[in-house]
Amino acid sequence: MTLPTPSLRPSRKISVFLFAAAFASIALAVTAPVPPAQAQEMQWEDYAPRSTLVVEEHEVTRAKFPFVDAHAHQWGIAEMSGEEIAAMVADMDAMNMAVMVNLSGGSGEELQAKIAATDMHAPGRFVHYANIDFETLDDPDFGEKAAAQLEEDVRQGAKGLKIYKSLGMYIFYEDGTRLKTDDPKLDPIWQKAGELGIPVLIHTADPAPFWEPQDRFNERWFELKERPRRKRDPVPSWETLMTEHWDLIARHSNTIFLSAHLGWLGNDLGRLGSLLDKMPNMYTELGAVIGELGRQPHTAKAFLTKYQDRVLMGKDSWEPSEYYVYFRIFETADEYFPYYRKRHAFWSMYGMDLPDDVLRKIYYENALRIIPGLDPALFPDS
Ligand SMILES: [Zn+2]
Repeated sequence: MTLPTPSLRPSRKISVFLFAAAFASIALAVTAPVPPAQAQEMQWEDYAPRSTLVVEEHEVTRAKFPFVDAHAHQWGIAEMSGEEIAAMVADMDAMNMAVMVNLSGGSGEELQAKIAATDMHAPGRFVHYANIDFETLDDPDFGEKAAAQLEEDVRQGAKGLKIYKSLGMYIFYEDGTRLKTDDPKLDPIWQKAGELGIPVLIHTADPAPFWEPQDRFNERWFELKERPRRKRDPVPSWETLMTEHWDLIARHSNTIFLSAHLGWLGNDLGRLGSLLDKMPNMYTELGAVIGELGRQPHTAKAFLTKYQDRVLMGKDSWEPSEYYVYFRIFETADEYFPYYRKRHAFWSMYGMDLPDDVLRKIYYENALRIIPGLDPALFPDS
């Protein structure tokens, strides 16, 4: 018996069937809410599942105690009208922010204009930090001149010094040599800050995964996809840059340093703790890194309890609703709730339920101790 040989060309009947099937699937695509084909092709970046977890939720839109935001940027505050500043103060009042630290004060006349604007429209509610201009770095007495300018800026009302991450990464001598964070040429600046009794908030480097291959194992892959310019060359390495930062703090024990953004060690609080143990003049703050604490509530609560005198509240970008996530992580025991920026934390948050005495220190008591000139009347029991 012989079987019929199958034809390679589909019969007319099969062609009509395939056409009808394709048409039916297009019709389905128009009517179904999530077409199966599209669901299969969805990119990871679009995946935003709604949690089905049913647990108690406690939104916190106002901090339990008045707080100081030790890490904020208001570059254009001198150009804001009285009404615009009043609107910002109303937002601060609503969330119980007593004082905002504007790290972007600049220097000289620019700084004075910012101080004058907030003194006029919201006295006591803002403090401004000075910044260093590295333009004349090659001058032999650059360090002394910068220290003298800092002294003048503090005389004019600056309450601290902020150093941007350009130091260490993007500032070079004329011959092309990279200016290291712990270059002795800058020593007069740090000594002067110590003499003046002002803190130095210093941001060095960036999250360590920016130095690692941008592959499927990199925890910041999505951030590097959204912000490709954040990818860093392997040299100088993250360890090199941060070692310069730690050496600087260790060498100037009479100056208080705030290592910004948990010193990029929010993912390794044990290592951050040993640095704080080694350097009593080192402090830190939480700007843009609360997502690290929110994924390890037990370890983070133990860390903040042990180092309750060394950590300050800070946020970095000004978006009132985002502060609520900070408050919820600090003040509640809520579980598995969303963070606000997927590129920082695609994972969910958990509350630490911090005790009041720790909360008070992080919210304002540590700031009152290390930032000069804050008005104690804005805070309870101080
Ligand atoms: Zn910042």
